Amino acid sequence: MARDPARAAAGHWPRRPSGSLPFAVPQLRLDTPVQFLKGIGEKRAEAFARLGVASVQDLLFHVPHRYIDASSLTPMAKARIGDDVACVGTVISKGVLPTRKGLRIFHAVLRDQSGVLECAWPGQAFLDRVVTPGQLVLVAGPIRFYHGRQMAPRELLVLGDADDAAVAGRIIPVYPATEGLSHKQIRAIINQHLEAMVAILPDILPEPLRTRFNLPSLADALHAVHRPTSASEAERGRRRLAVDELLDLQLMLARARQVARAGQRGTRFVVHRTLTTQLREHLPWALTSDQKQAIREIFEDMTKAERMHRLVMGDVGTGKTVVALFAMLLALENGYQAALMAPTELLAEQHHQTLSKLVAPLGLVPELLLGRLGAADKRAARARLQDGDTSLVIGTHALVQEEVGFQRLGLVVIDEQHRFGVEQRAALMHKGDAPDVLLLTATPIPRSLALTRFGDLDMSILKTRPPGRGAVRTALRTPSHRNRVFEFVRAAAREGRQAYVVLPVIEESERADLRAAETMATELTAKWPEVRVGLVHGRLKAPERDRVMRAFRDGEVQVLVATTVIEVGIDVPNATVMVIEHPERFGLAQLHQLRGRVGRGERESHCILLTASGDVLERLRAFTQTNDGFKIAELDLEERGRGDLLGARQSGGVDFKIARFPEDTDLLGEARALARAVLDADPTLTKRENKALRARALARYPRGEVLFRVG
Ligand code: ADP
Ligand code: MG
Repeated sequence: MARDPARAAAGHWPRRPSGSLPFAVPQLRLDTPVQFLKGIGEKRAEAFARLGVASVQDLLFHVPHRYIDASSLTPMAKARIGDDVACVGTVISKGVLPTRKGLRIFHAVLRDQSGVLECAWPGQAFLDRVVTPGQLVLVAGPIRFYHGRQMAPRELLVLGDADDAAVAGRIIPVYPATEGLSHKQIRAIINQHLEAMVAILPDILPEPLRTRFNLPSLADALHAVHRPTSASEAERGRRRLAVDELLDLQLMLARARQVARAGQRGTRFVVHRTLTTQLREHLPWALTSDQKQAIREIFEDMTKAERMHRLVMGDVGTGKTVVALFAMLLALENGYQAALMAPTELLAEQHHQTLSKLVAPLGLVPELLLGRLGAADKRAARARLQDGDTSLVIGTHALVQEEVGFQRLGLVVIDEQHRFGVEQRAALMHKGDAPDVLLLTATPIPRSLALTRFGDLDMSILKTRPPGRGAVRTALRTPSHRNRVFEFVRAAAREGRQAYVVLPVIEESERADLRAAETMATELTAKWPEVRVGLVHGRLKAPERDRVMRAFRDGEVQVLVATTVIEVGIDVPNATVMVIEHPERFGLAQLHQLRGRVGRGERESHCILLTASGDVLERLRAFTQTNDGFKIAELDLEERGRGDLLGARQSGGVDFKIARFPEDTDLLGEARALARAVLDADPTLTKRENKALRARALARYPRGEVLFRVG
């Protein structure tokens, strides 16, 4: 290259023949603050900071969120009344016209090569200060008839000056912008410094891998993204950047998996067909085929020498508990102990009850170990575990945290662990005498996406619910049905059944439309003297909350007014009605979790979404039409669009900037394969060619450092 690109970017420093400099010219570096770039002063640097762009590297990865493709624009002459189109043209005249009603309308006439188009923006006189003749603008909106053909633009984008070569007839990148920094200014700045910035960026992926996975170089990808010549080129570039982004997390997951498997040998259990077979014979019902499959997969893992790290993913009510019980009994029939951990004491109690019943015919008595037990009881329980008198124990997470000593722990089952991130799992796997680990989650996510969150785990999926349980009917109701809905609840209570009323907040907030849980509970108590109403919310202390929940479980409370604390709640088969107020405030996946609290008995159950306004939201309607957690997870994902659902937040506090879901789902598999290929050759990422990769991944997931320690 003839010129030094780094020097060129630093062009605002005095240019002198090199060698005669009175001071050293700072080289452009990836961590150089953007403020030192030509064209960016203090003000703009502040605006960039608002966009999350602080350094040269950030600027380079500040990628367009969309492109305007000249080929998808409509020539102005071809825009027909009734069409909804996008056009690009030069402003030839403009002005503000008052109407008789006092509304001020901004008008502009645009021209392209085919003709002219009149546009009108009622009530937006301020545009007079934004739009000037000679500018090239993009407008998009419906064409209507108003003294002739006229567009009422929904969108207006000032692209540049008409002679701006960068935009003429090409693909125009549109950048996320902010006040005081237009996308056009961003485009000009990036355009100006692109070569210089790209030149100092090392490609993080070694060349042979790039070739193997058919990925463009980072430099090509960045050029393609910032200065594409076609939409497909831009997309190819974006996908390379997205793979990079996903790769960091996949490296963590794949490494966690490696460490877990190679680091410690597990126990090679043998299927003796004693307890496991007895359980099968004593079950009051037949296993579903999904349950059988999951048990098969678990047994395969447990009979191997490596430790098991398996996740059973299945919607509420698909019967995960009994699957876990088979795994525990396999440990027991090999002379090992097994522990089941639940997220709350209440859930632990519930599991204890269920399991006690199931294993009673086998002559087993499970232990329940809870924090609230008296000191003497606790000591006795611990002694039994220590001595091996107890083989099956159920408790909360305190079981492993509180240094409970086991005589011979062979398996740990962790229930409802969807809030566990990869780094926490890694810590667990490092712990103790290497028991096998089985995780259960009632939060289904599409399999391909599960790779992102649970790529370090093997997975078994339960899709079908066992037969013989009442269906849950979901209805969407508007405020005009309010009285009828609550009469329905009251009637259910009178007939001896129970109900939940769920609200999104706990106190009357400044938003008058929110009916708070406390007010609701008070009101219902006053209005329905014959019904016993209880209240739980997140501000209650755990013992108090457990007390109310127990009262509900035992039927002492008939109508439970609650916030989302019941989400990972309890199994009350007699609860057949749930009313959810302000359903529009909940995500679909969350609504589905809530709904899972009813329909647990044999009777038909009802989940009623009571909206705050008469507008019926499409998303809620879709929700009423399916009970399939996997499908809802997909809808939820589409709704949220970006990385949130992927658990990125739980596993490192990172949101994906470039990868989008569900569109980039296939890239997850690619990133995963890439991560495994890299780690197979260099498990701790210490080879020279992987240094950059290691640095970047650890910068994003600092707590993952423990996984990459050498020796
Ligand atoms: P979850 O997957 O939500 O944890 P559970 O394990 O609590 O589900 O099971 C839900 C209910 O279904 C329990 O009452 C359980 O006894 C029952 N159950 C589990 N498997 C079957 C089956 N194969 N046939 C009938 N009922 C079953
Ligand atoms: Mg469960």
